Amino acid sequence: MRLGPGAELLVFNGREGEFLARVAQAGKRSGELECLHLTRPLQEPPDLWLLFAPIRKARTDFIVEKAAELGAARIVPVQTAFTNAERIRRERLQAHAIEAAEQCGGTFVPEVTGLHKLDRLLETWPQERQILFCDEALVGGGPRLAQARPGPWAILIGPEGGFSQAERARIRAMPNVTAISLGPRILRADTAAVAALTLWQAALGDWKSS
Ligand code: SAH
Repeated sequence: MRLGPGAELLVFNGREGEFLARVAQAGKRSGELECLHLTRPLQEPPDLWLLFAPIRKARTDFIVEKAAELGAARIVPVQTAFTNAERIRRERLQAHAIEAAEQCGGTFVPEVTGLHKLDRLLETWPQERQILFCDEALVGGGPRLAQARPGPWAILIGPEGGFSQAERARIRAMPNVTAISLGPRILRADTAAVAALTLWQAALGDWKSS
């Protein structure tokens, strides 16, 4: 932001990709950049959503930042039975996602949606999108993800209080749900989100070498 006319920088728009740009005009409050040419095409993440129950502010910020870094296409805060947060600051979370992309040289910014009630969201859930249900009740057990089918997915992480029995029963009864454990220890929700994104990316996402 201290750049003057003629200086060059990289910019991205989340649609075409990254461009080399030159400062054409620099005012105190606004400026003008001239895009010179495309330097990198848009690199879209796999079609993976992260559904998580918002927790305390700093931890929610962390989840959004890490989801953007690890390659989620959409970030959906959900209100579950044991979620304390009544509202979120969507714009602030979106700004975190943008910042994470900037920091990591990304060309894509995942959309952060408003807060959705989990039960409502499940009522109209698109059939083709599989759900990776991170269920603390399965701690230490559960199936392996390696055999799971590719396609659009969503990871579901609960709040600090975990899922209610009613939620658990409902989610498990849905088609296209894979309930998994994240190992023999109970993780905090923010750690669980990072662990699940990592697992999914390694098994089904764009980290795979073949
Ligand atoms: N209070 C709960 C734990 C909630 S942890 C309890 O003591 O049982 C917050 C969320 O992280 C969970 O809802 C789940 O989605 C995820 N999680 C944490 N540890 C997990 C594990 N070992 N296996 C699967 N999911 C886990």
